[in-house]
Parts: sequence; C-alpha cells; structure tokens
Amino acid sequence: ELHNTIQELKGNIRVFCRVRPMLSSEDCQQSCAFSFGQEKRDLVIESSSTNESACGTKKAPPRYEFAFDRVFTPAASQEDVFDEIAQLIQSALDGYNVCIFAYGQTGSGKTYTMEGNTADHSTQGMIPRAMQQVFNTSLDLKEKGWQYSIEASFLEIYNETIRDLLGSGDANTKHEIKLSNPGNTGSAHEVMVTNVKTVVVTSETQNRAVAATQCNERSSRSHSVFRLKLVGENHLTGEKCQGTLNLIDLAGSERLSQSCSTGERLRETKNINKSLSNLGNVIMALANKEQHIPYRNSKLTFLLQNSLGGNSKSLMFVNISPKEESLQETLCSLRFATKVN
Ligand code: ADP
Ligand code: MG
Repeated sequence: ELHNTIQELKGNIRVFCRVRPMLSSEDCQQSCAFSFGQEKRDLVIESSSTNESACGTKKAPPRYEFAFDRVFTPAASQEDVFDEIAQLIQSALDGYNVCIFAYGQTGSGKTYTMEGNTADHSTQGMIPRAMQQVFNTSLDLKEKGWQYSIEASFLEIYNETIRDLLGSGDANTKHEIKLSNPGNTGSAHEVMVTNVKTVVVTSETQNRAVAATQCNERSSRSHSVFRLKLVGENHLTGEKCQGTLNLIDLAGSERLSQSCSTGERLRETKNINKSLSNLGNVIMALANKEQHIPYRNSKLTFLLQNSLGGNSKSLMFVNISPKEESLQETLCSLRFATKVN
C-alpha cells in the first residue's frame, strides 16, 4: 500500500542502473573508476586517465555523480537483479501492464540482462526467469481457483518495421498495429498486431519459447519486445484479470556521430535515435501528466501504449560498460536515464 502510494507520487517509472564487469577479452583495456553508495542507489564515475597539464601538475580527473532507484555493481548476479524485479512480474499476474526496458549502448549488457546465457541456469536473464516465475505462480494460484492462460509473443522492430521472431520468418508477412474497439465497457483500446504468432506457455512449451529467444541473433540495430499476455479467471469467485508483461531489449543507444553512418546504416541510426528519443518523450509526457502523449510518433511507443501510463508499471535498466573508451556514451546513457526517472 505505502509502496504504491510512493510510486504514484513519483510517476510510474523506476530506473535501475547496471554496470557490467570488464570481460576477460578486455584485459588490456582501461576501466573507468567506479564507486558505489552504501544504499545501492548512488554511482560515482571517474575517468581513470589522469590529466597531466603542460607544466606537469596533475589535475583531478572529472567526476560524475548519479542516483537511481537501484544501482547494480559488476559483481551483481542475474539472481540479484531478478530479486529486485520479481514483485513487478507479480504485478502482471495481478492485472497490471508492465514494461521492463534495457537501455544502453551496444556492448553494455542489455541482451545479457534480458536473455542472458540461456544454456547455463545461473546466468539466465530476466526473460527466462520471468517466464519461470509466472508459470510457477500460476500453478500455485490454481489452489485458490485461478486458471491462467499465458501466451507469449516475440516481436522485433527494425527500421520502424515489425518482424515476428516466433513466426515463419517470411519477410512478406506484414504486421500492422491496430487498436481494437473498446466496446461499451469503457475500457481502453487493446493494442493488436496483425499476423503475430503466439505460443501458449505450458510446462512443455515453456522451454521452447525460452529457446526462441536464443535464436535472436539480430544485430543491436533493432528493438525486441518479448510479451506475455496473462489472462486469469477465478472459477470460485468469478473474478477476472488481464495483465501484460513486456520485456524490451532496446536498440543500441550510441549516437550518430560515432558510427560514421552512410546509406542504409544512416537510415537505421536515424530510426533508432528517433524511436529512443520518442520513448523518452512519452515517459516524460506521462510523468508531467500532459494532455497529449506522443505514442504515435514511433512504432515502439505505439505498440506499448497500453503498457505505458494508465494502469501500468515500468522499469528501465540503464546498462553501462565499465570501459574508459565508452565513458562519453556511458554519460549520455546515464543522463537519458536521469531524465526519465
Ligand atoms: P548489448 O546487448 O548491450 O549489446 P551484451 O549483452 O551482448 O550487450 O553484452 C556484451 C558482452 O558482455 C557479452 O559478451 C556479454 O556476455 C557480456 N556481459 C554483459 N553483461 C555481463 C555481466 N553482467 N556479466 C558477465 N558478462 C556480461
Ligand atoms: Mg544486444
């Protein structure tokens, strides 16, 4: 109760920062210097390169301070991270629309956080863990009369075009976002995507649906949206509830100038930058309780419109790389995340 009230006062998005470790393949590269607050909410970054001025005196390296709802150090395990989102997953079963995003430059750990290494249980990411929790909880709730239908879909948005990652892979299949008629119940429009394959999640298909995430070898140039639609009905009380859980691995947030793009690459980058900045604008418009929320300015926010704002809860992971050479992009990511928080 109290927690919900605090959430309402704050707006409906929380931001978690996760710093990935240096990889063994990066042994000979410089890391930034990090320090983490006791409360697991503060992050201080210093450049590790000491600036020596012309006359030989050392200047203190620049220092950047940030605060988030939670900061995960490079030592945090997938389990540590999941523990902090488990309650949000539960909300989807309770009938909320939930979005969990991973934002950050390419190589910062977004896919590791969302999908992880599915072959190795301890490094499984949030998607397989969330599926497991949803499935197990739905079984527990059976005793109380609840029957849940759990359907998974997995879409990718590339250059403002939707592809179905669980579908046949036929490039000619067109997918459109449509709003269903709300009918006379007065409830919100439901967002539908045409021609999308859904997989009913049972104990047998669960592993298959998880495995499908592993086939997603797309570049970092697309957004992927893993969605669980959870429809529950209680045959003892007649209660019904419907929630949606969206787990979104966003396209790399690196800026245009760095990628020296031309042609197709340039178009990709422009689309990515446009949709990421639009996502930020939508989140801020919701937080400011503005009249007009620009959902329709990009496919991503149009697709997620029912899961952002209203009866919904959102969380954004800002994933950052510890590498010194990534510092400028890291600061851009952290500033973006501070803005939406
Ligand atoms: P992104 O999806 O943001 O481009 P990845 O998730 O692919 O980045 O991560 C880049 C590399 O770092 C991968 O090799 C991944 O396995 C590794 N990595 C990322 N986060 C972690 C982590 N927390 N622990 C161990 N390795 C990680
Ligand atoms: Mg990735």
